[in-house]
Amino acid sequence: MKRICLFFLALLFILTMNQAGWSQDNAEHYKVDKIVLDAGHGGYDSGAVGKHSREKDITLAIALDAGMIIKEKLPGMEVIFTRTDDSFVKLHDRAEIANKNEADLFISIHCNSSPSEKAFGAETYIMGLHKTNENLEVAKAENAAILLEDNYQEQYDGFDPNSDEDYIMLNMFQSATMEQSLEFSQLLQDEMRTSAGLYDRGVRQAGFVVLYLTTMPGVLLETGFLSNPGEEQFLLKQENQLKIAEAIANAVIEYKHTTDEKLTELKTSTGHNALKPEKTQKIYRIEFISLKREKPANDKMFKGMEDVWHYFENGRYHYTFGKADSFEKANGLYQKAILNKKIKWKYLKSAEIVEFENGKAIKKIKALDNLKN
Ligand SMILES: [Zn+2]
Repeated sequence: MKRICLFFLALLFILTMNQAGWSQDNAEHYKVDKIVLDAGHGGYDSGAVGKHSREKDITLAIALDAGMIIKEKLPGMEVIFTRTDDSFVKLHDRAEIANKNEADLFISIHCNSSPSEKAFGAETYIMGLHKTNENLEVAKAENAAILLEDNYQEQYDGFDPNSDEDYIMLNMFQSATMEQSLEFSQLLQDEMRTSAGLYDRGVRQAGFVVLYLTTMPGVLLETGFLSNPGEEQFLLKQENQLKIAEAIANAVIEYKHTTDEKLTELKTSTGHNALKPEKTQKIYRIEFISLKREKPANDKMFKGMEDVWHYFENGRYHYTFGKADSFEKANGLYQKAILNKKIKWKYLKSAEIVEFENGKAIKKIKALDNLKN
């Protein structure tokens, strides 16, 4: 029990950190440029087994197909797989792949199984406390994968996938990613119904270890039931696997579309001046920092600075100050900023002079600190 408490304290810390980051930088968390497709199970973990099928084979086929379609339809989207072959990947390693890569969306793909042969249809889970025993059983079945890991007790701080009590603990903290996970799960269920033609069992909640450990919005998709002979046949067909992959891809595209819209709205409302195109001539500004997240104009980082402008490039917000019509003059402004100490040296030391043409950054040269030499 002590171990579990430590585990949850660590989690609370992570979640608090997340939440703090979010209130500051709304824009960043709407961006969707990188997704992780997690094919459930693999290697000596077959997952659910039907009469003619193993879950691990179907999830891999769907994940690979979905990745292919997404890359084709959204060339700018980076797609990361937790596995691309029949190998065993620990649940915490799956989460770590997503966390390390700072993915924007995590999709875990699975097939369902029920003691009743009659159950059928697709359901999408987001992290949360189960409302029915049925949902708890799904989480238990999926989390049982950790029992196949050598040192799972150590690795998951004593979490017992069979203990009902541990599931309540697992969901004690509301995740900051909940709202977006819910949004995506609804799009996914709509697509599973319309594009894949599967019965819609709805969005549900339960405690999945893999979702619990990931820090970005995420869902766990149960594509259908291998325990239902009809649905097993459906899931085994390559053309249907492709349909499900398409449903996933469509949901990702729609999700990106809606999040991009929110991002645009936020960009125009955060109070900073976005760099306007200046067509007449080249201009030069001093870039002192680039950030993954946008800072509001009143952030203490800009205290004492005048004429701060930013531009957005390669997924980062680049902050500049000053304006000159030549590199030399811009470098003069840079030296002046060092002299009058209006800007902290830590921001200035790696500054670059950026040449803009028609409002676009076309060249960057390291700013020269002649005064120091
Ligand atoms: Zn599974």
